[in-house]
Amino acid sequence: MKKLLIFNEDEFTNLLFKDELAKNPEIAPSYASSYKEFEESIEKHKHDFHGAIIDLTNDANKNNQILHLTNYYDIPTIILTSIENKNIKKNMLKHDIVDFVFKDGLPSVRYAINAILRTLKNHNTTILVVDDSRLYRKILSDSIKKMHINVIEAKNGQEALDILEVNNKISLIITDYEMPLVDGLELTFKIRKNYTKDQLAIIAISSADEQESLGSFLKYGANDFIHKPFSYNEVLTRVNSNLELLDLFSSIKDMANKDFLTGAYNRRFFFDAGKVIHSKSKRKNLLLAVAMIDIDKFKNINDTYGHDIGDIAIKEIKTILDANLRDSDLMARFGGEEFCILLEDINISNVKILFEKIRNIFENNIIKVGKLQISYTISIGIYYGLLDSLEDMIRLSDEALYEAKESGRNKVVTKSKM
Ligand code: GH3
Ligand code: MG
Ligand code: MG
Ligand code: MG
Repeated sequence: MKKLLIFNEDEFTNLLFKDELAKNPEIAPSYASSYKEFEESIEKHKHDFHGAIIDLTNDANKNNQILHLTNYYDIPTIILTSIENKNIKKNMLKHDIVDFVFKDGLPSVRYAINAILRTLKNHNTTILVVDDSRLYRKILSDSIKKMHINVIEAKNGQEALDILEVNNKISLIITDYEMPLVDGLELTFKIRKNYTKDQLAIIAISSADEQESLGSFLKYGANDFIHKPFSYNEVLTRVNSNLELLDLFSSIKDMANKDFLTGAYNRRFFFDAGKVIHSKSKRKNLLLAVAMIDIDKFKNINDTYGHDIGDIAIKEIKTILDANLRDSDLMARFGGEEFCILLEDINISNVKILFEKIRNIFENNIIKVGKLQISYTISIGIYYGLLDSLEDMIRLSDEALYEAKESGRNKVVTKSKM
């Protein structure tokens, strides 16, 4: 849940915000319609607000106090203003402000909400700025930090490539053209050998006398470009639109690879990713573990409490597995209440310890839904070793699961051939 502070002296705009924000259950808005209310709200919640949308008042001192407070508590702030007064705007720029929105009814309300939601996501976003000019690096970095995005700097293309080797959190690169060692074009070309446009976005920067380089940049796989000199607004707009596209790509990929109910990977993705892990292990002659998990007597839960509660029970599996597996373990929902996990870099005794612990967590877990208390046990079948095909390893883990069920359930059965 994200807490937003909306400050508007006119009730009508506040109503528009209320209508729009009601559509978004992830947002908990607080409304202030006077400076006093604003001050009370911010003093009460302090650092708890994730963002603020502020309508400027006609009083410059008040405006400064308002922004001083949002900055002091490090709250990303979007300004909504009907006062198209350049001096006021200039005066406001000494504060940290993500974006200015001209107040113009519903479209501007939607724009402001979008801008703040984008900013909330930015905390997890990292941009790499590549430029040999210290001045331009600083201008770009400062703009990006203003958007509450993390930034890393590189002085040339080679340094950027070195950083990319070790940092997998970068989602966008802004690169200059002319640089020593590796220039922007070569950098773009090299990046595109390993990353597609929807995995890592590249924005090229060029000055007026480098116009002809833009065509090459786009041909080599840059997503977008910015002309030098540029304003903060231009960086904001280009960066935001490219990040939005990346988000869109990733949600499309999620739709194809993930299960709608739990958000876990689906069976198809498990086979795609699992085959890569399996062939790598065969090359290196390393052993793998496949674990199959199934709820015991799950039909009883559906029959007793209904399908919706059954769904909650299934989601609980994902939550508990997420909390107990490593990032490198591949977990997927195979069907109904059945999950499969592929683990590498683990020995057989640790596999047994891990899944015994997970079995035990379920045995002692109680899910509370209103007044209801639901609990269930799980059975786990494991195959440990390395066979020629991943399918065979899954089949053997399924046989182990069957044995666990046959011998009384709430059990871990491990088969191995080493
Ligand atoms: P066992 O201990 O032998 O595993 O008994 P069980 O009752 O759990 O048997 P089984 O694993 O065959 O039961 C699977 C049930 O899961 C049958 C189906 O109605 C239910 N199911 C499958 N998909 C879903 C789902 O998405 N939501 C809910 N609520 N139930 C589902
Ligand atoms: Mg340069
Ligand atoms: Mg079952
Ligand atoms: Mg089942």
